[in-house]
Amino acid sequence: MKTKKEKGTIKKVVSLVHKLTPGYLTLLVIIRILAATFPFVGIVFSSIILDQLVQKQAFELIMKNALIMIAVGSTIMLTRWGLEAANWVKKIELSHKISQMICEKTFDIDYDVLEKHETLDMIKKAKDGMNSSGSIRNFCDNLSSLIEKVISIIYSAVIIATLFIPKLFGPQKGFGFFLNQWYSAFIMLFVMVLHIVVSYFVNKKSAALQMRFFERNVSYNRYFTYWFNLVFDYSIGKYIRLYKMQKVILSRVQQTNDTLEKEYKDWLNENLKITLIPILTEFVLQLTSYAYVGLKAVFNLISVGSSLKYVTAYKILVESIASISDTFVQMDVQSKYLSFFYDYMQIENKRYEGTIPTEKRDDNIFEIEFRDVSFKYDNSETYALRHVNQKITLGTKNAVVGKNGAGKTTFIKLLCRLYEPTEGQILLNGVDIRYYDYKDYARLFSIVFQDYNLFSFPLGENVAAAVEYDKERVLECIDKAGFTDRLNRLEKGLETNLYQYNDDNGVEISGGEAQKLAIARALYKDAPFVILDEPTSALDPVAEFEIYQNFDNMVKGKTSIYISHRMSSCRFCDNIIVFDEGKVVEQGSHEKLMAGGGLYSQLWNAQAQYYA
Ligand code: ADP
Repeated sequence: MKTKKEKGTIKKVVSLVHKLTPGYLTLLVIIRILAATFPFVGIVFSSIILDQLVQKQAFELIMKNALIMIAVGSTIMLTRWGLEAANWVKKIELSHKISQMICEKTFDIDYDVLEKHETLDMIKKAKDGMNSSGSIRNFCDNLSSLIEKVISIIYSAVIIATLFIPKLFGPQKGFGFFLNQWYSAFIMLFVMVLHIVVSYFVNKKSAALQMRFFERNVSYNRYFTYWFNLVFDYSIGKYIRLYKMQKVILSRVQQTNDTLEKEYKDWLNENLKITLIPILTEFVLQLTSYAYVGLKAVFNLISVGSSLKYVTAYKILVESIASISDTFVQMDVQSKYLSFFYDYMQIENKRYEGTIPTEKRDDNIFEIEFRDVSFKYDNSETYALRHVNQKITLGTKNAVVGKNGAGKTTFIKLLCRLYEPTEGQILLNGVDIRYYDYKDYARLFSIVFQDYNLFSFPLGENVAAAVEYDKERVLECIDKAGFTDRLNRLEKGLETNLYQYNDDNGVEISGGEAQKLAIARALYKDAPFVILDEPTSALDPVAEFEIYQNFDNMVKGKTSIYISHRMSSCRFCDNIIVFDEGKVVEQGSHEKLMAGGGLYSQLWNAQAQYYA
């Protein structure tokens, strides 16, 4: 009954759970053994007591049996309760550790793989699968409940077996005679097996329907979450109000809702129809078993106390077997949900995993070269960069300019290894950057992208990008970025929480102020390369002037690259690289490019006209 996949999953889950929360599974198994034993203590003792009452035996004897029953029963119950309480903490710990694994994996995935639609769907599947019916916790519960059911089956089968032993001096004719024969037992067994088989196939079909529903709607669920979250994200609440986007968003929510609702109804309809069958077979089974046991008592083939024992044991036997089959089906489904998790954890990074450490040079002698680099985004037909040959010389101030979509940001992303070139090579000190250890390589760059993203946690941690940090240095960087005045007005200083997502007393800062903090964060990293993508776009003219005044100081001894539309800010750079349609069309100093009369001078003159 167990599929190959299921067996593989059991092995994987057991070893993972053992690694994450040792002892959890062992406790679970003990709890289940106690749970299985508990009802049988009641069944066996109450049948003995009932028979003793009918036979009018001594009161002391009956009381003694009753007390043993209560003592054994309550010991089992209390032990189980204590163990469950102890395991509850482990259960929560297990869930947290699994969520952490998903987070860590997501941090580790190549950026170009992460932004793909299929990867986003895989993340959604892995997270949903782990949160809902497919979670490892549920799988462990089912695994241990199999043990409980098996023990229940053994207990009840031993009791039931005695029901089918014909009584040697039973009735010699009529219905009582029939009940005392082996073939009447055969009819009973047949009804029981029929119900179990029917339940198994119906459960299997029902689980397949559920899985189909889940798989078909992963993307819709993700869209729904996206649209729904927009409604509650207060930072975009202003755009929604000003552009009256409520209708657009609600119609999207409605649209995804309608699709999901229709799919849900179809699933429920199909499911309801098939689940009626085992309800009917269970009804027939109960009728026949009660009639069989009851009539055996009427014809004096079993005692009154035993009839109670048999009816209860029979019920437990049937329920346990049916639920074992259901548990197998559920585990099969869960194996599929869990496979989403394992598939996600096994996504392989295509990026070449270099191992060479970058030199830890105090002199910061690092030189970058793009050698005939071309790049095409996976989802695009056209090249974003074409045959780029470019050197970034040590210690120079470089500007990258060009119209929108010219390839400037792509150039920077390739340099930081967020993507790999489709053709050509990028070299650091003569070695292909792919061969360097990625984390070590990333250490070389301080970057401020346009979407610089600060986080809703304390200001100091935002700048240092760490929980523990050097306070003096954070203050120094904040000062260089021109944020000190604002910081002095914040009661809690570096401890101030940014934004109100996680703290009611969090402060809202302006776009310009946030940009200054993003610059301070880049400075704190103190990397040999400083890259600023439109670093001053949100700053007022005074702040922008101050940043540029300070710029020499900020990037002293480093190699800097910045992308700017503000042509005047490029003027003081050693080298200006001009991009057009993915190609470097000219480069040199401001004076040289202006004298050349090419694209740079056109851009410069166009802007000078508006800023004159
Ligand atoms: P710039 O920074 O000069 O404005 P980009 O480097 O951002 O230009 O973009 C260069 C080209 O690549 C543009 O045509 C842009 O639409 C495209 N592009 C940018 N990012 C992606 C992406 N993630 N997927 C597909 N195409 C992209």
